[in-house]
Amino acid sequence: MKRLLILDDDADIGATIANIARTVGFEAMSVTESESFFAQVDTWSPSHIAIDLVMPEVDGIEVMRRLGGAACPASIIITSGVGSRVLDAAKRSALEHGLRLGGVVSKPFTPAKFRALLAEPGVATDARTGRAERAEVQVDAAMIQAAIVRREFTMAYQPKIACRSAAVIGSEALARWTHPVHGMIPPDRFIVAAERLGLMDPLTVHLFDIALAWFAEIREAQDFVLSFNISRSSLGDIQLADRLARQCADHGVPPGQIILELTETSALADPTTSLDLLTRLRFKGFRLSIDDFGVGYSSIAQLVRLPFSELKIDKSFVFEAASSSEARTIIRTMVNLGHSLDLTVTAEGVEDGEALKILCEAGCDLAQGYHIARPLHASAVQAWLDGRKALA
Ligand code: C2E
Ligand code: CA
Ligand code: CA
Repeated sequence: MKRLLILDDDADIGATIANIARTVGFEAMSVTESESFFAQVDTWSPSHIAIDLVMPEVDGIEVMRRLGGAACPASIIITSGVGSRVLDAAKRSALEHGLRLGGVVSKPFTPAKFRALLAEPGVATDARTGRAERAEVQVDAAMIQAAIVRREFTMAYQPKIACRSAAVIGSEALARWTHPVHGMIPPDRFIVAAERLGLMDPLTVHLFDIALAWFAEIREAQDFVLSFNISRSSLGDIQLADRLARQCADHGVPPGQIILELTETSALADPTTSLDLLTRLRFKGFRLSIDDFGVGYSSIAQLVRLPFSELKIDKSFVFEAASSSEARTIIRTMVNLGHSLDLTVTAEGVEDGEALKILCEAGCDLAQGYHIARPLHASAVQAWLDGRKALA
């Protein structure tokens, strides 16, 4: 039986969603506060749950944390009137808590949109991109281990340019997984799963190897750096620095040409361990970047202590650069902060020429995003570089 449980502090909206759900064959029930919500989760066993993120008495993120703790198997639909940045964070939080994410719907939504989301089992529409997302398979340890052995993971490479000169200065390696049955599984899903399953260390070694093999070839022809993402769970691994350095040596790549990207939250979660590990990575010659800067919580004091060389402004600020003066102020502040700490400042998520222009004017050093290039298949990078040279 398909059952939808709705948590929304606005009873009218809850009733509307319930009615829409009934028209597509659901049993539906709507509640306005968290106590009765959790009581219904336990006793009524909904197959689907719709949660409003912003409610006066309850915090939607806290609700998801509790659902995750109870290993709730329902498909979660996040409904909200908040901006894309918060929705993104909520999505990430749902996945981190091991919940099945059925979709994200931004308010106000049309009945048709909600109906479409519920009617096609497992197919949800991403609120920001409008793209249909596949039913989310549960990734387990055996799947990841098999994928490593069968070489199902590949890397895509997204070029990074200098804002002023437009010269290509490097590219970021982004993991891709095409499963023989389930098709494309997005990285923010399998990385989180690998972290939870304790498989991140072997996966990092495997992915870094793929990226280094590609990079060893292309760097002959191109003066280039390679950016590679390090998961937060690897920061507890004291052998990480040695292992990464050994892999570089095996491929004949100097660590100085590698930038390791760590998210702001992960790098600062445990400042003492991080400082040890990050310092060791620096000793090996790696450059370090703070990824997703601006969405975590860090104090300037902590940042100053840690040996970073690059700051990456989170894409949520870049998306809003053209439409929001607040976002522009934040960007300028981050650029100035980065420069005063002697960091290279990179913006990611540059989707159009206008955003690039704003970043340039704010003094940002490097830019990355769909406007410049999408993440490219390894075999397509050279052609893209050649095409750019022809244009210059
Ligand atoms: P990230 O490190 O913040 O990577 C940037 C993400 O933004 C990538 O998503 C990229 O495809 C996307 N992106 C780039 N330009 C644009 C743009 O103009 N607009 C929009 N809307 N998006 C843009 P992707 O490839 O899905 O990766 C998601 C996340 O998964 C990454 O976020 C990173 O945290 C993680 N990840 C990816 N590959 C690896 C990996 O090899 N190791 C680890 N530990 N994490 C990885
Ligand atoms: Ca990154
Ligand atoms: Ca990022």
